[in-house]
Order: sequence, then C-alpha cells, then structure tokens
Amino acid sequence: MKISGYVGKYAMVDLTTRKYDIHDFDEEDLRYFMGGATLGAKILFDRMPAKTPWDAPESIIGFVCGVANGTGALISPRYTVVSKSPVTNMWNDANSGGHFGPQLRRSGYDAVFVKGISEKPVYILIDNGKIIFHDASKLWGMTVQQTEDAIREELSDNKVGIATIGPAGERLSYMSAIMNDTHRAAARGGPGAVMGKKNFKAIVCRGNTRFDVHDKEGLLAINNAIMDWSKTGPLADTIYPLFANHGTGGLYEGSVYQSDASIKNWGGIPSELTDDAIKSITTTETDKRWKVKKYTCNACSVGCGAIYEIKDGSYPIKETGRPEYESGAAFGSNLLCGSPELVNWCNYLCNDYGFDTISFGGAIAWAMECFSKGLFTIGETGGVDLSWGNTEGVAQLAEAMCKGTSEFALVLNNGSLAAAKHYGRGLEYVMHMGGIEAPHHDPRLNPGVTRTFQYDPTPGRHVKGGQGFGPPTSLLPIEVKYDFDDPEQGVRDVAGVIDAEVKGIGGFCEVTGFAFPPGTKQRILTAVTGLEFDGEEYDKLGKRSYTIRHMFNIREGMKREDNTIAGRLIGKPAMTEGPHTGRVVENEKLADMFFKEMGWDPKTMIPPKAVLEELGGMDAVIADLYGG
Ligand code: SF4
Repeated sequence: MKISGYVGKYAMVDLTTRKYDIHDFDEEDLRYFMGGATLGAKILFDRMPAKTPWDAPESIIGFVCGVANGTGALISPRYTVVSKSPVTNMWNDANSGGHFGPQLRRSGYDAVFVKGISEKPVYILIDNGKIIFHDASKLWGMTVQQTEDAIREELSDNKVGIATIGPAGERLSYMSAIMNDTHRAAARGGPGAVMGKKNFKAIVCRGNTRFDVHDKEGLLAINNAIMDWSKTGPLADTIYPLFANHGTGGLYEGSVYQSDASIKNWGGIPSELTDDAIKSITTTETDKRWKVKKYTCNACSVGCGAIYEIKDGSYPIKETGRPEYESGAAFGSNLLCGSPELVNWCNYLCNDYGFDTISFGGAIAWAMECFSKGLFTIGETGGVDLSWGNTEGVAQLAEAMCKGTSEFALVLNNGSLAAAKHYGRGLEYVMHMGGIEAPHHDPRLNPGVTRTFQYDPTPGRHVKGGQGFGPPTSLLPIEVKYDFDDPEQGVRDVAGVIDAEVKGIGGFCEVTGFAFPPGTKQRILTAVTGLEFDGEEYDKLGKRSYTIRHMFNIREGMKREDNTIAGRLIGKPAMTEGPHTGRVVENEKLADMFFKEMGWDPKTMIPPKAVLEELGGMDAVIADLYGG
C-alpha cells in the first residue's frame, strides 16, 4: 500500500562538493518512523558513521517535516532539526513552529539533510525540488532579522521560508539556535553551531509541490472536532483562553509562587521577589503595555504568539516576539530580576543573535551566583556588576555575550558547564542535565519530570515526554508523586513518553495536550497517511521513536552514568526553606522503573533483542548491537 501524506523524497546535500542526491524514502522507514525527530534519527543512524564528532565534515544536520506539516491539520506546524549536539556530542533534536515546516514540504522534500563543510559561507535555496547554492559571505556576521531581510531582497521574494543562524551559530556557541520566522527557534542543544561549523548560514525554501492526503474529509471532521473542543473541553475556560490570549507567559506568576519556575539559580524562594516583580513579568500584564498583534503558526487555532512594540523604558524595541514562559523565568525569577523590560530585551537579543534563551539565561544565572559567592571579581566579568537582581548588569552581560565583546562573555557563549570548566570554578552552581542548562519546571515540585530531564536522549527538555508533563500526572497529590517505590511511576512515565514522541512525529504542537480531544493524534496520522493505529501500534510507534533516538546514543558509547543532573535540582541537598523544604527526588529509582517498564536492562539501558524485534523497524539497531 502506498503511504499518503508525503512528497516521498529527501535530499542529501554535500556542502564540501556542492552536490546533492535525491532519495525516495524507503516505505518501511516511513511506516515505522514517520516524521520529525524519529524519521531523522533513523536516517542519521543509517547514514552517519558511528562516533562522528559533531563538528566533522561527515556530521549530518537534518531538517525534517512532521507528518502533518502543511496538510491543513490544525496545530500541526512543527518541524525538527536533527544532528549531534556540540554540548554532549550525542544525539540532538530540537523542533520549531512557525511556517517553515510546511514551506519545506512544499519546496519538494519531506526532509533535507546536509553534510560536509563549505569552503566559504553558503546558504541553500530549495525551489520546487531544485537545490541552489548561494554565496552567503555578505550575510556572515548578520543578525537573524538582517539575514532574513537580505535573503528576501536578493531573491525578490517576501514569502520564502528561512531557517538561519545568527552570530551565535557562526561563533559555534554551544547555546546557539536555528531561527525561523524571525522569532521561532529550534534552540536546545546548540544546533546552530553545527550549521556554523559547516559555514552554512541558512536553508531557504519555496515551492508549490503537491502531496496527497489520504482522507481530506476525515481531516476536516477532525479539525471541526478540535474547534468544538476549544469550547467544550475541560480546559476551555481556563488554560485554552489563557494561552490563546497571553501565551505560555500567562503561567509565569502562578509558577513562581509555587516554585515551579526557577528562582535565583534554583536556590531561591518566592519571598525573595516582590509581588510586583512577579506580576509585572506575567504576560497578562505585559500584553496591556506592549501587545500590537497576535502571532499564529501555520494552521493553528490557538495562536499563542504575539508581537510587541516596546516604546517605553530603558530598552525600546520596534518589533519583538512576546517571550514564552521559559524565557520569562530565564531572565526574570532565575536572575532575581523583576523587570519585564529586561526580560523582553534579553529575549529579543537572543532571537536576533540566535541564542537559546533557556541556556543563555541559565549561563547568566550561573555567573551571578559565582559573582555573589566571590568566585569572580568585577574585573574578571568584563567590568559588569553581576549582583543578584541587577538589571543593568544583566543587560550589559547579555549584550557582551551577543556581540562577543569581552573574554568572559565569549567563554559564557559555550554555556555554564564549559565556563565552569574553563575557569575551574563554580562547577557546583551549574544547573544542568547532561551539560545543558535546565528548563524552568522544578523537579522538586513535580519529581516525575526528573527522569525525562536526565535520561531523555536529548537531556534538559521541557517539550519531551514522561510523567509530570501536563495533566493528569502533574496534578497527582504530592504523596503519590513522591512515592518512589510505586511501580506505577514507570507505567505513567512510559505512557507520557509515548504521547510526547507521537507529538514530535506528527509535528503537533505541545499545546495539543489540551487543545486536541482524546485520540486526535492517531486520527490525524491515519487521515494523512492511511496507516491505521490501534492501541498497540500507537504505543509501539511512541516507544520505537524513543528507542531509535536512544540507540543512536548507545551506539555512540553512552553509559548510564553519563546521564547527569545537578544535585540542587533534585533536592540534593534539600532546601531548608520555601515550598520545596525537605524534598529529595530519588532520581535513579525513577529511572530504574522507567527502564524496567520499557523492558530494558536498567544498568546498561540496552533493550533485549526480543524487545527490539517486537517494536519492528529495528533491523539496523539489532545488527549493530547483536550482529547479523
Ligand atoms: S499554540 Fe502557539 S506555538 Fe503552538 S502551533 Fe499554535 S501558535 Fe504555534
């Protein structure tokens, strides 16, 4: 049976030779791995030699559509960038919304993979299947907005899709993002550096390539059900309108008070901030001051984005994307700052220079704690006073990090762990998972997130899955969540993984957890592709997705002890005041239960051959692990 919903092709571009090959997707690969990070992991597992360093010519970076990108399915715009991470030198995937995913598919490919290193800066234009190499020497050094403007002018086309790096990626920053639609970021794990190493400034696409959808009427009916659910679902009067009107930043105030958002490099408590400082950063307040219009990704009925114009205060900005919750916490409570102007300024700088806001804010928080403990003098920080809550000092350091104007700022470009190692100081204040700065949901409040943060093949992600990510498990009573001998922990965790992996495969946005009626993800996958998913097949799809990403790391030599998490994040040592007093997360017990529930050996994290065979599509993994 032919699988619908795809162009059916991917391109492998070699920047060294400036040639490309076009491949038909293997139908088995589409059936088993479908889209997003999962399909990308399968291609990189097969096509990239094991143990290739992230910065080697043979290293591959891929841009992969979600199954539903461009099909008209609501809230399904996300594409995924796959590569190795410069931070971990292991697997990395990072997804982004906007319009780029659907534009990529319409340009003639379901995925484009890029290897080699260009002799000089280059961008590639994909135009209805044709791939054209453009000199990007003039673009090198430009910010994201400048690059987009210059490419659109050169091509005389205001509508092309552009995913680009800014100066951060060119500088090979471990915190560098790939930006599309100006304000949207595939950010975590440093994928911008992989492009920077290749002298690869941007991937640009346009076209009107057609692809069929298996059941158009069925898809329309699903969209109607999604619209109905926005009025009748259990969160229709609460979270749905909050996100639709104010974005994820509407959660900031409540999150700080319950200490889900980080405070003072994860060592502080809510009472160290004033009520006004907490409230003023929440987007329900900032929208009143600066919101100009709503921003919506492709075919999204929620529309959680907004454009701000900031005319008042110390950091005026003509046009900027409203900060997400994560960025509000990264530049607000975690720095003990209560300035919405500063939050927006740092968010704007990160977007324009191409940095991951979460890691960027985490690196500053590390520097502030080190400074407060006397580990750095003002002479060493480039003359910046990094006292907790010093808004001006944060702005100065942020600008220096973006422009690379001090040695301290340049060292911080590679994140807090690299900086601590470089200076030989402050290692205990690096708040990380696997070397990547922590996202802003506190494991001490919701211990279920710990296994995901520590052991997902991409550590430190707020958009990966497991128990604890959204209702109902995050709403369990604390005594249930803290019962680390309850085997249900593993059951809930695997169920959450399946859900999140399928989200990534489909290109479904994170908000679909509440914006989709139950069963919608399966229904969309079937309406688009024609493939059927009963409960067992659906579970296998999610587990297979996690497994192929994980097995990439196992082949690279990852051991269980390589999956690290900062002690403070899990109450080691426990807080002595505030909402998390006395809470200690038994992180390794949670991981043991997860691996057991997956059917794997908890010590080695390796699945038995029979488990891999049962999943299907794992021939290459089995051959690598077990031979033949
Ligand atoms: S909810 Fe927000 S991030 Fe998600 S697809 Fe819609 S506009 Fe984009």
